[in-house]
Amino acid sequence: MDLFKKCYDYTMAKEAMAAGLYPYFHALQTGQDTIVTMSNKENVLMIGSNNYLGLTNDPRVIQAAVEATTKYGSGCSGSRFLNGTLDLHITLEERLAKFMRKEKALLFSAGFLANLGIISAIAGRGDYILCDRANHASIYDGCRLSFAKMYKYEHNDMDDLENLLKKLGKDAPKLIITDGVFSMEGDLANLPEIVRLARKYNARILVDDAHGIGVLGANGRGTAEYFGLEDEVDMIMGTFSKSFASLGGFLVASEPVCHYVQHVSRPLIFTASMTPAATGAALKALEIIETEPERRKHLLSLANDFRTRLKEHGFIVRDGVTPIIPILVGDMQKTFLFCKVLFEHGVYVNPVVAPAVPADATLIRTSLTATHTKEQIDRALQTLVKVGKELAVIPA
Ligand code: PMP
Repeated sequence: MDLFKKCYDYTMAKEAMAAGLYPYFHALQTGQDTIVTMSNKENVLMIGSNNYLGLTNDPRVIQAAVEATTKYGSGCSGSRFLNGTLDLHITLEERLAKFMRKEKALLFSAGFLANLGIISAIAGRGDYILCDRANHASIYDGCRLSFAKMYKYEHNDMDDLENLLKKLGKDAPKLIITDGVFSMEGDLANLPEIVRLARKYNARILVDDAHGIGVLGANGRGTAEYFGLEDEVDMIMGTFSKSFASLGGFLVASEPVCHYVQHVSRPLIFTASMTPAATGAALKALEIIETEPERRKHLLSLANDFRTRLKEHGFIVRDGVTPIIPILVGDMQKTFLFCKVLFEHGVYVNPVVAPAVPADATLIRTSLTATHTKEQIDRALQTLVKVGKELAVIPA
């Protein structure tokens, strides 16, 4: 049989395209901002971006990327391991470790690669991984790449986690992995309980805080800071593609852990390092995260207000404390249609359908940015209510 048969037979996306409902790979004709142009449609209000702190167009971040490019060139032409390390990478690692209050930080070229690289290095044959069912795809792929045995526990179900830990016993080498902020629904890991169980059963903890760092905690250090548990979490993974307005990923942990990962992690050793532009931008974003706490305060207050008002209008919205606000729609066709009609009315949101969520719990995922104005949020709400009523997502 022809290897490509699966490609010829793949119809799902084409069906959505034929129905005029295909919601993916939309090209922006402007930068990532609160207002964008897409499909030649101007003045589209973006409420579907991970640009949480609104730094992608901050002149200081852009300037830092330009200066790094001018000084170091367009690319690093090699891996961190060999010729591709810049002093700028080292500076960013040192500043990140200090900010996150861990002994050491280690950069990866993307957050996805960070999860692949950390998990596959730290968990091997004879080790066990306990993984929240709702964890990000890159965590699952990291588990696959490791030779460890992986067990899933039901989303944030601490009894399920404890049962698995109990079965494995205290002596087996174990790693619990959880998103800090779950990427699709914006809810938090039950970190206090995970920490308690990890202590009781002698397990290590890795938190993927891609969506938490920069946003949560008094100083923006993320979910562990939010819960006051920074010293209890062994490893924190982060990304530069969200609050940091750049591209790349990182691990912060103790010196021996980072030293080990640095020397055995294939997704770190066998790929080119972060570009000068991405590194310079991330460094400047870090400085802004440290010095401008008002950004996250404004963002969280906007999100809180938006969440409350959506509920008042009858939308089914999960309670939460993050700028990720999912709205339940309940079936795929209707979710795609909701996105399409919202777009026609000048509001961009993301659809979330199976397998990311159960088929009867499809969502639109809205996410806010610190540079959104109150007027923009009012406009988003009015449009959501109008279209929500038209499509019977909420009562007319
Ligand atoms: N972890 C989580 C929880 C994420 O949401 C993402 C990106 N969506 C990643 C890891 C991967 O990060 P990156 O975009 O930097 O590859």
